[in-house]
Amino acid sequence: MQEQQLPTLIAPFKLARQGQELRGVVSVNGLERLATVLSDDKGHINVLLQFGKDQQGSNLVRGHLSTRVNMVCQRCMKPMSVNVDTNVSLAIVASEERAMQLPEGLEALIVEEEPMALARMIEDELMLALPIVTLHENRDCEPVLKKLQEETNVIEQAEKKVNPFAVLSGLK
Ligand SMILES: [Zn+2]
Repeated sequence: MQEQQLPTLIAPFKLARQGQELRGVVSVNGLERLATVLSDDKGHINVLLQFGKDQQGSNLVRGHLSTRVNMVCQRCMKPMSVNVDTNVSLAIVASEERAMQLPEGLEALIVEEEPMALARMIEDELMLALPIVTLHENRDCEPVLKKLQEETNVIEQAEKKVNPFAVLSGLK
């Protein structure tokens, strides 16, 4: 299927009423909040969102988001590639109050005002789906760690050499 250009703003209630589907890609560099937790803003998100109503007439959006982004490994502090793949299943409600009334296990998309930014919704879902801990597989990480340690040693040795001068300049 051809990828369509996704709108910046969406009207979720209207989309649900019309039973519309959104399918396309959003680039990570348009999602500022998400980009702050990544090591760069490269990449794009594959978006598939199906809006509609359930048998009780509640407004729903279901779908799937997938992407490959770069995050910082918490062991070696180097970038690593992370696959994020998440299903979306949200009830579209008009207020926080309505959200509280939803059956347990059903998450809400609170739309107080239409239209809303599609990016806001995609970001919210992806932020929840990101891994809490990002670490390279050991074999990818440890050589880097060893290299870092060597670099630290070089710096420490350089500092020792510099030290006598630092003392001298302090005496001036
Ligand atoms: Zn690492």
